[in-house]
Amino acid sequence: MLGRTFLFTFLLIVTAAAASAKPAELKIAVEPAGSAYRVSVTFAGDADGSTNILLPNEWGGQQELFRAIRNLSVSKGTTLADSDKPFVKTLTHQPGQKITVTYEISQDFQGPLTNAVRYRPVTDAIYIHWIGNAVWVLPEWDEQTDNDISIEWKGFAKSWTVANSFGTSRRKQKFQAKLSELLSAIFVAGDFRITTTKAKANDVNIAIRGKWQFTDAELAEMIRKVIDTERDFFGDHTQKYYLVTLVQTDEGPKALSFGGTGLTDSFALFATPNATVSRLRGLLAHEYAHNWIPGRLGRMPEPEQDLYWFSEGFTDFYTYKLLRSGSLITAAEYAEAYNERIREYYLLPVRNEPNDRIVKDFWTDRNVQRLPYLRGFLFATNLDADIRNASEGTASLDNAIRELFATSKTPLSFESLTAIFSKYLGVDITSAIRLHLRDGATIVPQPYALGPDFTQRITEMPVFELGFDFDKFAKDRVVADLDPNSSAYAAGLRNGQKRNGGVSLAFGDTTKEVELKVKDDEGEKTIKFLPIARTRLEIPQYQLKQ
Ligand SMILES: [Zn+2]
Repeated sequence: MLGRTFLFTFLLIVTAAAASAKPAELKIAVEPAGSAYRVSVTFAGDADGSTNILLPNEWGGQQELFRAIRNLSVSKGTTLADSDKPFVKTLTHQPGQKITVTYEISQDFQGPLTNAVRYRPVTDAIYIHWIGNAVWVLPEWDEQTDNDISIEWKGFAKSWTVANSFGTSRRKQKFQAKLSELLSAIFVAGDFRITTTKAKANDVNIAIRGKWQFTDAELAEMIRKVIDTERDFFGDHTQKYYLVTLVQTDEGPKALSFGGTGLTDSFALFATPNATVSRLRGLLAHEYAHNWIPGRLGRMPEPEQDLYWFSEGFTDFYTYKLLRSGSLITAAEYAEAYNERIREYYLLPVRNEPNDRIVKDFWTDRNVQRLPYLRGFLFATNLDADIRNASEGTASLDNAIRELFATSKTPLSFESLTAIFSKYLGVDITSAIRLHLRDGATIVPQPYALGPDFTQRITEMPVFELGFDFDKFAKDRVVADLDPNSSAYAAGLRNGQKRNGGVSLAFGDTTKEVELKVKDDEGEKTIKFLPIARTRLEIPQYQLKQ
C-alpha cells in the first residue's frame, strides 16, 4: 500500500515537470510532388527511444483517412514498424533523436467534391483543401499541450494563395498551438481569392474559389457583420484572427446544398453554386454562435443529446435574435424565419416525443434530429418574452446567458438551467421545463413574443390524411379501417372494396389527388380525392404590423 502511494506521488512530480518544460518543436514542410504533395514533419523523438506516430484515420464521419497517405518513410537512424492498427506506426531511435517523417498526400477519391467526401483531402493541380485531421502524420504527443510549430509551403506556384487557421498569405508560418488545434484546422491553397476585413481590430479573412451568385465582397461583409454582432453580444472580442473558406460541392443539377464545420479560428464552408448569401448567413450565424453556446457557458452532460434543446435550440434562437438586432435581416425576414420553424415544428410527426427519444434516436431518425432545434428555439422564444414581461423590460434571456458565460464553470444540466432561468424569471420554472422539454408537450409561441412590432394570427394548414389502412390496401388488397369522416369516404371508398390495379399517391402531399382503382359488387371504380383531414391544423404565424 505504502509503495503504491509513493509511486503515485513520484509520477505526479514527473508529469508536473514535463508540463512546465518549454514547448516541443514541430516543423512541417509541404511541397508539390507531381500529382501529390510531399510533407515532411520534423520533431525530437521520445526520451525512451520509441515514439508512436499517428496517421489520419477517422474524422467527421470519414473512415480510413490514411488511404490518402502514401510513401511514408523516416530519416536515417530511425526504424519504422507497423502496429496492429494501420494508422499507428512505431519509430525506434536514439533517445531524444531528431526525426523527420516524410510522406505524400494523394487524393483518394475520384470525380468532383461532393458532400460524401468533402472532408477528405483534395490534392488538385489548381487547389488544395485540407482539414488537419485528414492530412497530418504526427507524433503521439499530448494533444492539449502547446507546441512551437512552423509550417513552410515550399515550391508552390507564385500565383497560388495560401490560407489556413494560422494565417493568410504567408508561405512560412510560425505559431504556438496544441496538436488538437493543428488537427482541427483548415488549410487551403491555390486559386482561392482572399478578402481581408476587420471586426473591430481583429482580422476576418475569407478564402473563396469558383463562381457564385454573389460577389466576394458581399459574402465577406456579411461574414464580418455576423461575427462582429455575435462578439458584441457576448462582449468577447478575444479572437484575433478568423478565416472562412468556401468551396463548391457538386450534388447534381438543381440540387441546393450548403454546410460547414467550425474549426480552429476558422469555418470551412461547402455549398453548391446556387447557394445564396442569405442561406449561408443563417448557417454561419448558427455555427459561429456555437463558439459560445454551449462550450463557453458550461460543460455539456453525457450523453449530450439530453441538452440538445439548449445547445442547438437556444443557438438557433440567438442566431435569429442577433441577426435581427444587428440589422443583418429585415423584420419581415425575421418573421419568416419564425414562421418556417413554427410550421416545421407543428407538422413534425415526432413533435410530442419526450426528450428521452432525442437521446435515443438523434443520430438515426431525421425527424427526431430536428426536434431539439425546433423545441429549444420556441422554448427560448417564450422564455425570453416571459423574462422581459416579468422584469417590465429590464431583463431578458440575454441576462441569463451572459451570466452563464461569465461564470462558465457550471456543468450544464436540466437542473442548473432551470435554476438560472427561474432566477431571472422570478418564479420557479421547473414544471414548465418538465412539461415541454422533458415530456414533449407542444410549445405554443406567445402572440407578443417577438415584441410590439409583430402580431400573431392563426392560420389553418391542411393535414395529410389517407383515411384508411394503406398497408392492408397495399398488401392484402382490401379497403379496411376506413374513417367515415374522411375525404376518401366522401369520394366513395368503402370498407371491403378490393384493390383493382395501381395506386397513385404522394405521401404527405395534400395538393396531389390520390387515385385508387377498386372493385366491389357494383363493379370496377376509380376513386379520386385530396388526402386532407377534416380538422385542419391551427398554426400560429407572425406578421409585421402595418
Ligand atoms: Zn448547431
